[in-house]
Amino acid sequence: MNILCFLYAACGAALDFLFPERCALCGSFILPGRRAGRYPLCRVCADGLPSPRTPRCLVCSRPLISEKDLCMDCRRPGQGGANGFSFECNVSVFMYQDPGIMELIISYKGRKRRSLAVFLASRLLAEYRLRWNGLPVVPVPCRAASLKKRGFDQIALLCREMKRRGGVRILPLLKRSGKTREQKTLNRKERVRNLAGSVYPARRSRRYLKNGVPERLVLLDDIFTTGATTSACARVLKELGVKEVYVLTLALD
Ligand SMILES: [Zn+2]
Ligand SMILES: [Zn+2]
Repeated sequence: MNILCFLYAACGAALDFLFPERCALCGSFILPGRRAGRYPLCRVCADGLPSPRTPRCLVCSRPLISEKDLCMDCRRPGQGGANGFSFECNVSVFMYQDPGIMELIISYKGRKRRSLAVFLASRLLAEYRLRWNGLPVVPVPCRAASLKKRGFDQIALLCREMKRRGGVRILPLLKRSGKTREQKTLNRKERVRNLAGSVYPARRSRRYLKNGVPERLVLLDDIFTTGATTSACARVLKELGVKEVYVLTLALD
């Protein structure tokens, strides 16, 4: 450990001693030596977060029970293949309903504990490196109303951390008009209709693509529910010339 690392760790421990932060999950004060990393989680909570059950559907990431490779929805014929999605597949790092996960995401998005982005991005990065290392990442754009309400773009922040920690190339190619209703109150059909035309290429996308359109890229979102949002984004990316779009999400609901 060099002197700077030592000083940094010593300052961190002193701050934890003087102004202990509360763990985003168990609520207890994080005392010196109990911190899992540079984010508000104690070691017990960070290490105890469940990994999704396997096997999972190769297309939508839902846990499989008796099926092989694909879930019943992604197998259904006449759906335009794989649930009618415009992307190749989704991989979710967590299951939203698993113990602690919903709380963690609500803490990040709802209670605005932005420093949790460091932890969440590290888990996203691990999955990204395993599957799609080197591909550019496109953030799913935030609705203007959510941005106003929350005060920060939770996906853009995760992207920034992925870039900072892992040197991932981020391409903010998409925008979203403010007219759409909040997706979570709608069913799948309504979601698709609600989104039609609301996602479009960002004005500066041409600048990002001036050296050519990537053949394959990763689309990043927080929660995967019906896949309508990510599908709408993937459709626009394919219209721009991208051949394959892989979706990476924090949690599957
Ligand atoms: Zn804890
Ligand atoms: Zn599936």
